[in-house]
Amino acid sequence: MIVENEKKAQLDEFENIDLAVTRDSHYGTIAEPVYSGVLSFMRRKYTKQLKDVDVAVVGVPFDLSVTNRPGARFGPRAVREASAQLAWGKAWGWGEDPFDSLNVVDWGDCLFDPGYPDQIVHSLEKQFDQLLSQDVSTLAIGGDHFVSYPIIKAYAKKYGPLSLIHFDAHCDTWRDKEGRIDHGTMFYHAAKQGLIDPEHSAQIGIRTHNSESHGFNVFDADQVHTLGVPEIIARTREVVGDRPCYITFDIDCLDPSVAPGTGTPVIGGLTSAQALELLRGLKGVNVMGMDLVEVSPSYDVGQITSLAGATIALNLLCLFGAKGSC
Ligand code: MN
Ligand code: MN
Repeated sequence: MIVENEKKAQLDEFENIDLAVTRDSHYGTIAEPVYSGVLSFMRRKYTKQLKDVDVAVVGVPFDLSVTNRPGARFGPRAVREASAQLAWGKAWGWGEDPFDSLNVVDWGDCLFDPGYPDQIVHSLEKQFDQLLSQDVSTLAIGGDHFVSYPIIKAYAKKYGPLSLIHFDAHCDTWRDKEGRIDHGTMFYHAAKQGLIDPEHSAQIGIRTHNSESHGFNVFDADQVHTLGVPEIIARTREVVGDRPCYITFDIDCLDPSVAPGTGTPVIGGLTSAQALELLRGLKGVNVMGMDLVEVSPSYDVGQITSLAGATIALNLLCLFGAKGSC
């Protein structure tokens, strides 16, 4: 539902500024100059008020659990900035714009004290508990991939074990000791603790070795390239069905040639076109929550990784808006 003045306003981008704080309606797309103004994800309203909100975009600037290069704590800010150049028009490729039907706000960032690393899991989990208790879904922007763990803990508490649709170069299920914080092992713990259901989960784009799958359905990058995207979509849909699912997108699923700005790049990855086709092909899945992680702008070139991250995050919102549609 776009209010009349917003319909008019979207015609001229130079009539609007700082929509993140000045906009009245949470719906619709209004243009403002790409290069200026207060930054929020997709120029949505920056607010902690979640009454009637469908999706809260939440930054999680945490990167203490990386195994290689740090820097993903700057991911949320970089993705918000890159999203400004997507926010002047309607989302492409879905037929309808998510902001016409979804009330989406930018909730800002999670708060935690990096000086107490052992308290961070609990602190993030509590913040997501509070968000979910207000009947919103979340699109989290990392942060390194470990942030998915406390978020999924909160989701599993509310919805039970979830199917995971996991885009990544890495399986993140390497065996680990209980309690360790590591962005390569959290889905091993999550599966073991019954937060996710590996048999009904899909890992897409994997291209690093793990001798154990722990029951996950792995559709590796070579399969994406040789079998083709439509086949991977069909297999993923078969595995997940209409079960409640959580979608997590590690930007290193994409090839470093299109997404160099990440901590642990691996060559042979997906093109951005393959990733977008995959997401569109999952239209209708029962997505409860989602995240986009591992954008690390210090290693980026010409902001292409941040732009890829922002576009994937926008497509995750499109997927959320289309749930149950087919
Ligand atoms: Mn990962
Ligand atoms: Mn990865």
